[in-house]
Amino acid sequence: MIDLHSHILPGIDDGARTLEESIEMARLAVKDGIRLLAATPHHNNGRYSNESYNVKQAIDHLNKELNRLSIPLKLMPGQEIRINDLFWGEWEAGNLLTLNDSQYMLIELPTQHVPRDLWDIIHEMRIKGIVPIIAHPERNVELANDLDILMELVKAGALGQVTTHSLNGLFGRRIRQVALKMCERNLIHIVASDAHNPDQRPFGMSEAYGMIKRKFGEAYVQYYRANAVAISDNRDVEVWEPRKEEGRWWIFGR
Ligand code: FE
Repeated sequence: MIDLHSHILPGIDDGARTLEESIEMARLAVKDGIRLLAATPHHNNGRYSNESYNVKQAIDHLNKELNRLSIPLKLMPGQEIRINDLFWGEWEAGNLLTLNDSQYMLIELPTQHVPRDLWDIIHEMRIKGIVPIIAHPERNVELANDLDILMELVKAGALGQVTTHSLNGLFGRRIRQVALKMCERNLIHIVASDAHNPDQRPFGMSEAYGMIKRKFGEAYVQYYRANAVAISDNRDVEVWEPRKEEGRWWIFGR
């Protein structure tokens, strides 16, 4: 299994604090069935800055440790990049990483709102050959309140990544409902853990896939899993047609 979002690198953001904690997380990842894991530390979010070179160094180091300890987990490079005014300067400077050096980039929105220029940024990214993946849209207040905005972003060329713990209920009932709704409306293209630590926020991938299977069927599990493989191999993902809210459509349709 592949997981494309984690904070496993030690001491560089709000994820694992020490190498010991990183190793503990790696063991938990393997236990959960993960064999390939993107390390995606926060970048440019106002608190943490982790440039491409430093992230790759840290990944090399941790991969060697995992190898030495015979833990069957391989880390691939990435970042969780906050969208703000620094973005294009950082891109030009070569400080940004895509997921496993593919065309796919994991981006993070502010918690409360959707930046007004996000559409322009997505458009510009697609022209430059970058496919943005919006990290946990279910945790953004504006997107959670109006799923049609996410639908527009998906139509503009962005992908959506739901976080396992949102589906598993760690962030409460409402976020869980929003996450499920986003899956149901085909606004989600991959499932990832956003694991931060071994205790409160580990991986939860098997649990989340189990829930997706129960709620939406095996085809959705296969869809998400195949997309994660496609991203790590830098192939095109499959994008199912986003759906309008059925209730609302029905009301307007009468
Ligand atoms: Fe994250």
